[in-house]
Amino acid sequence: MRIVILAVVAVLSVPLTAQQGGETAPVVYQVSFPAPEHRFAQVEATFSEVPQTLELRMSRSSPGRYALHEFAKNVYDVHAFGGDGKELELARPNPYQWNVSSPDGTVRLQYKVYGDHVDGTYLGIDTTHAHMNLPATLMWARHLDDRPVRVTFVPPAGLDWKVATQLFPTDSPWTFTAPNLQYLFDSPTELSAYTLKQFSVRNPDGKTYTIRAAIHSGATAEEIDRYADGLEKIVNEAVTVYGEFPKYEPGTYTFLADYLPSNSGDGMEHRNSTVVTGRALGNALSTASHEFFHCWNVERIRPQGLEPFNFEEANMTDSLWLAEGFTQYYGVLIMARAGLLDPVQAIGQFGSLARSVVFDSGRQFRSAVDMSRMAPFVDAARAVDRTNFKTTFISYYTYGGAIALGLDLTLRERSNGKVTLDDFMRAMWRTYGAPGGPAPGLVAHPYSVADVRDRLADVSGDRGFATDFVNRYIVGREALDYARLFARAGIDWRQRDRGHAWLGDLRVDAQMKIVDLVDPGTPAYDAGLEQDDVITAANGKDVASPQALQAILRAAKPGDHIQIAFTRRDGPRTATIVLKEDPTVDVVPLESPSADQKAFRDGWLGSQRH
Ligand SMILES: [Zn+2]
Repeated sequence: MRIVILAVVAVLSVPLTAQQGGETAPVVYQVSFPAPEHRFAQVEATFSEVPQTLELRMSRSSPGRYALHEFAKNVYDVHAFGGDGKELELARPNPYQWNVSSPDGTVRLQYKVYGDHVDGTYLGIDTTHAHMNLPATLMWARHLDDRPVRVTFVPPAGLDWKVATQLFPTDSPWTFTAPNLQYLFDSPTELSAYTLKQFSVRNPDGKTYTIRAAIHSGATAEEIDRYADGLEKIVNEAVTVYGEFPKYEPGTYTFLADYLPSNSGDGMEHRNSTVVTGRALGNALSTASHEFFHCWNVERIRPQGLEPFNFEEANMTDSLWLAEGFTQYYGVLIMARAGLLDPVQAIGQFGSLARSVVFDSGRQFRSAVDMSRMAPFVDAARAVDRTNFKTTFISYYTYGGAIALGLDLTLRERSNGKVTLDDFMRAMWRTYGAPGGPAPGLVAHPYSVADVRDRLADVSGDRGFATDFVNRYIVGREALDYARLFARAGIDWRQRDRGHAWLGDLRVDAQMKIVDLVDPGTPAYDAGLEQDDVITAANGKDVASPQALQAILRAAKPGDHIQIAFTRRDGPRTATIVLKEDPTVDVVPLESPSADQKAFRDGWLGSQRH
């Protein structure tokens, strides 16, 4: 995708004046906001030394987002001009593309793009800010991916805005550069009157980096201080997992924190920054903890399928259970280790991850690898038609989080606490992350599931264990024995309602209509009940409310039969439900763990800073 360009440029006759010191001509953007109240940006882009036909594209995807997002829909008032200023004709070969032929090798493109959605994926412009995800904002040209880029932002007159971004700074506070298209589109940019907080960190090699937070929010100064203090704790705890910070190429890592009542909640990782958004700053640290972990895991320890990111298609990888799931686990773990989350709450969150994988019906149909491949259909994707994802899909955040939890506890159990998941992450970092790539924004060695198995073999010192673990719990659909693993840390996996009759976790409304899909493998499913059926009677008695059905269940025992009458789309029906025992478990840390259990728990959930 990227290497075509040299061949194309070589055969063109282009004016030599456009070349600077033998380098390819940069792509130059200017982004202005002439009327922010109308929520559009005016973009001007200049492409020099271009091929005979320049293929201009709006992206259909964005780094870290896996569903298609048609950013072209918000583009309008598009014009192109040649180097002589004459307007050129634009062709539209497909909905995402504008083709233009320039007689002199230069195309000056102008268009407007509307945006009113503040999160990590889209564009949001109003009189308080321009919150830009660049794939949602900038048109790009095919075959020019390797060209350096120069972007100048023009703030609206009279507003006190400044720029926050991971783009490389220049002498002008409004002009930034990127070495290539991949880096450019990985660089969300916020223009607003944000509050800047920063601190520096030091690597073992002596290099220092500045960690910045650009906080655009209505929060009080105290709330912003508390948030910034929390970020510093998170950053200093997270680095203990890997032993070093990545090479942040601009010398900085930036949290672009945007918390306003009209925002959508989101967190989106990037190489040297993250966008974290929501309505209020209150509980924002857990999002920051997750996203910061991504500057190692996904941005540099990168799964095959996401490298290089394809802006024209959905991007699929086998490994989101690691890229997102392990990050989910560490986001919580680091909050606990940094003293920002009560360990009991962390254990509660880990318990939820494990329970989902053990009990949710999705695992009957798909493995962690299969779940990862579903991302283009579930990651901020909107379907018009109904899906049965509720019963056939478990989020790779949850599934992978549970695998991380189970693997961490397994490694600790096997080695008596000497080998942990941190060692595995460090092995992944050394092999795939730390070596870097040919240019900022590129990763030379993205990993496969087989690579994960090999690094697990290295870290555990047991190839048979690594192969078995990957085959059973990652490629296969088995669940780990969480009851046993939790016991080592003094955490009880406790059946909640032993001996109680259960027909499944049925969701019904006040009129006894089943409002959600019925889980395969439950008594209600086996009896043929499904979403939209309306239950009318049980054992010959009218059932007018969920409470009435509950009363009948309370009086019954596992193994009992219940005669159900219900109304389906095609008329009244009856069925026999064979009740089972309620399998629901609670995950409860023992209040008085043994000394051994306490030591295990402290080694796991306690701070790793020395
Ligand atoms: Zn994530």
